[in-house]
Amino acid sequence: MPKSDTYEIKNNLKYTYKDKFIVIEPASSKKKSLFCNICTFVLKTFDDMDSSENFGCCHACYLKWAESRRAAWKNEKWRPSKEEIQQERDIRNKLLQNLSLED
Ligand SMILES: [Zn+2]
Repeated sequence: MPKSDTYEIKNNLKYTYKDKFIVIEPASSKKKSLFCNICTFVLKTFDDMDSSENFGCCHACYLKWAESRRAAWKNEKWRPSKEEIQQERDIRNKLLQNLSLED
């Protein structure tokens, strides 16, 4: 039987200690998705959590698409096409690969 995750709550954030990493999420929230609704990348930073809460997407998607058209984004009148999302995912995957190659 795997032992259950340990966690603590500090500054209204819940830190869950998994095997090799820590999940940080708002302590007061109900269960939230850990993935962006748009690009489906995992939400990693506080900015991601914040953007997800306010705009339903990660921070990168917010900067890329939501920031310049906040009103249309907020009432879900505008969303990127599947093709646009796939292009953006490809770009980010390449960036991630380049970053890890430099190590
Ligand atoms: Zn995203």
